[in-house]
Amino acid sequence: MKLYNTLSRTVEEFNPYGDFVKIYVCGITPYDTTHLGHAFTYTSVDILIRYLEFKGFKVRYVQNVTDIDDDILRKANEEGEDWRSLGNRWTAHFIEDMRMLNVKPPDQFPRATEMIPQIIEMVEKLIKTGLAYQAGGNVYFQIDRWDEFGKLCKLSYEDMLPIANERGNNPNDKFKNDPLDFVLWQAKSPGEPSWESPWGAGRPGWHIECSAMSTHFLGNVLDIHAGGYDLCFPHHEAEISQVEPISAQKPFVKFWTHIAMVYHDGEKMSKSLGNLIMVRELSKKFTPDAIRLYLGSHHYRDSWSYDEDDLIAYQRLADDAQQALKLSGGDGEELRIDARMEAFIEAMDNDLDTEKAVQIFASLVAEVLEGINARANVLQAQGTIRKMGAIFGLILDEVKPEKWVLDGWNEHLKRFEKAGITAHSS
Ligand SMILES: [Zn+2]
Repeated sequence: MKLYNTLSRTVEEFNPYGDFVKIYVCGITPYDTTHLGHAFTYTSVDILIRYLEFKGFKVRYVQNVTDIDDDILRKANEEGEDWRSLGNRWTAHFIEDMRMLNVKPPDQFPRATEMIPQIIEMVEKLIKTGLAYQAGGNVYFQIDRWDEFGKLCKLSYEDMLPIANERGNNPNDKFKNDPLDFVLWQAKSPGEPSWESPWGAGRPGWHIECSAMSTHFLGNVLDIHAGGYDLCFPHHEAEISQVEPISAQKPFVKFWTHIAMVYHDGEKMSKSLGNLIMVRELSKKFTPDAIRLYLGSHHYRDSWSYDEDDLIAYQRLADDAQQALKLSGGDGEELRIDARMEAFIEAMDNDLDTEKAVQIFASLVAEVLEGINARANVLQAQGTIRKMGAIFGLILDEVKPEKWVLDGWNEHLKRFEKAGITAHSS
């Protein structure tokens, strides 16, 4: 199987470091609802994992929740809501949406606030190596002491700065040596939550949270680190810089997998532009399978624009697939579809070409429906629809998401209960 690697900018043969494929995916910052862009990221990762398992790989999968962050605190302030209850509410909402879409739950689902000791330990190590410095109760990573800063995104310093500024960097922070140095630990601001640390009360920087969580659960080297394309810089660049110097193992991540952005009305779907398409809203008109086939009909590396007419077409395909499994064929000649599965595997092996694979699935469904009309024996072909459907995370003729999907999310919820996170039953 071949997979594109952002680090090398090429499609490479996929081989994991060890017996398990270790996957980390940057999770949500829970302060608002799941939009189609989030759904594209997490269903693309879900298909990748399901396909790896189909190929016989064993997967260990960690996804985090960034439950302490500037955005959450700002939103909580605006709404006059406690930051914890805001985060809990939207975490529960995200879980409901993922269950509805039949997305595999991660094996570990840590929240950043559960990992403060591990984060502090990592910051201490970075200070010891001389790559981080303290100033004004904050700790910063000094980028000019790490020669390899920029190797993932391959941007010049001049190009990096405006992008970082757009994504949470404060270039005017007077305590920094360089405007691009990034925060590992930030001193408590009035009215903000804080934790005790060797540098005084404060809270972690965003980038270090993911590095601490990924290495805590998966070790110093990962096979795949995924996330939305907009996380490549500075978030993932910072993650490499935080891990490789202290782990002394390279590369920290074998395959960097970035999922493209979803557009609507000519702009990237984003809160600030107000052009979001919410998964919850779509689910009132379309079935989970229609949404998943529509999402899967786009290659994960190609950005695309939301178009309701396309989604309507995939609702028809989802309905047809259900029909093709509910109806029985006859005892005529067996419908031969061997080439379809081969073509499907060939497409998926080629950097997860789901765009092609969905078209193969659609052709197979049409053939089976024709076969049923012609009273052909379609049992084997129906089995192939199920196999492909399972890789796409489809519910098909079942009434609910798969039991193991629901059970897995419920396990996480049980652990979260003490924090006050409860999703509506599904
Ligand atoms: Zn992350």
